[in-house]
Amino acid sequence: MEKNIPYKTYLDENEMPKAWYNVRADMKNKPAPLLDPQTHEPMTAEQLSAVFCRELVEQELNDTDPFIPIPQEIIEFYKMYRPSPLVRAYCLEKALDTPAKIYYKFEGNNTSGSHKLNSAIVQAYYAKKQGLNGVTTETGAGQWGTALSMACAYFGLDCKVFMVKVSYEQKPFRREVMRTYGASVTPSPSETTNVGRKILAEHPGTTGSLGCAISEAVEVAVGTEGYRYVLGSVLNQVLLHQSVIGLETKTAFEKIGEKPDIIIGCAGGGSNLGGLISPFMGEKLRGENDYRFIAVEPASCPSLTRGRYAYDFCDTGMVCPLAKMYTLGSGFIPSANHAGGLRYHGMSSTLSQLYDDKLMEAVSVEQTKVFEAAQQFARIEGILPAPESSHAIRVAIDEALKCKETGEEKTILFGLTGTGYFDMVAYQKFNDGEMTDYIPTDEDLAKGFAGLPKM
Ligand SMILES: *Cc1c(COP(=O)(O)O)cnc(C)c1O
Repeated sequence: MEKNIPYKTYLDENEMPKAWYNVRADMKNKPAPLLDPQTHEPMTAEQLSAVFCRELVEQELNDTDPFIPIPQEIIEFYKMYRPSPLVRAYCLEKALDTPAKIYYKFEGNNTSGSHKLNSAIVQAYYAKKQGLNGVTTETGAGQWGTALSMACAYFGLDCKVFMVKVSYEQKPFRREVMRTYGASVTPSPSETTNVGRKILAEHPGTTGSLGCAISEAVEVAVGTEGYRYVLGSVLNQVLLHQSVIGLETKTAFEKIGEKPDIIIGCAGGGSNLGGLISPFMGEKLRGENDYRFIAVEPASCPSLTRGRYAYDFCDTGMVCPLAKMYTLGSGFIPSANHAGGLRYHGMSSTLSQLYDDKLMEAVSVEQTKVFEAAQQFARIEGILPAPESSHAIRVAIDEALKCKETGEEKTILFGLTGTGYFDMVAYQKFNDGEMTDYIPTDEDLAKGFAGLPKM
């Protein structure tokens, strides 16, 4: 059976992936296409090229090729920090007294402190290749903005980051990292764009949201010669780039003669989870192997577990194409006490389709439980995890404890997407016993759903 696994053909002499794996090629029900927000017709490559880099548009629309070669320049860059470690959490297993084996794939070994560099470097590469001067983007917690600043510095591109205002104020050091790499950072909403001024007039004193920052970044990209907009999650192309995580993991598991039974990842826009599970999901889709996949999201921003599967705006200003996804509505903003990231209102359309087809499960967890898991993990395994990653840790621990009850020796894999050094305000709240949970009521969610576009 082993020799028939096609992805092996796409490994180099060091067993590193030479191609990304495109799970859409193996999906019977393809993710729904992006639609023009005015006409509701599928977006053409030409339309998308006004906003995004050309080759990235091709990747976005490609749901037939299972493997897409990684350009050599990107392979060279990946070599600086990849393969990322696949670690067996022996100490955690022992502390939990579980018969389960727990593994994590650690993506925090680069300055962005997350997996986001895997796609940032690709998007910067194609922008450079197209002869652009620079790119614009948004960032929430700051990992994506940092990753993109690093990638742009490497290829000599200008980088304009709109940073959600609350993070800009709470995380001044994150901002300085980006500036060190040469990016300009503007708190969003800002007075520098039409959409920013409009949002500020309607909601004076707002601390911003990812949806607002996206609208501002798109406006600047479309209105500035030689610039395009790039996005760190949600899009099909980003899941494609992140498949390096899953491909490396699969190779490592085969080397040690193991196979995960349960694969767990946190889900914000879905890129790390999509990347981690893609090659395994491909086997499931082709009927070669079975796995349980679990997406973990915050109870305060529960797009998969409580959202609607519908076409929605990707941004607050409604300038982006419509995407069909599990969504809370583009006007949804998680409550102010939510500290744990993963605050985007929607979910990758690829993962949304897989979830709707019951090929993947989803659970939501409250943030105090997430930080309990983070603290336990930090004390036992030595790594201070990002709050986002800690959603996956929470559920990995819960699954390992279930194995303890049943005596099942399952193999659990989770994505440890990054480190939490810039999240000390959130950790401080938790350490001081001041962290609270908020679960939106059905009425809260109804307000977001009321803003869904009428199709
Ligand atoms: C951005 C981020 C996430 C969530 O984004 P996805 O696109 O859902 O993967 C998770 N963990 C870390 C550390 C991040 O920076």
